[in-house]
Amino acid sequence: MSQDNMIKMECTECKRVNYFSHKNKKTLKTRLELKKHCNSCKKHTLHKETK
Ligand SMILES: [Zn+2]
Repeated sequence: MSQDNMIKMECTECKRVNYFSHKNKKTLKTRLELKKHCNSCKKHTLHKETK
């Protein structure tokens, strides 16, 4: 089993952590930014990687 780096995806509008992901070594240098649906905002918002 390989231990990937676990990351949290936080909504940039309400600051809630809505998604969990993990990244491999190739993407470690860049901060992930994804548009995902936020249950709190009830819409698609930008989610950023946080720790
Ligand atoms: Zn939100």
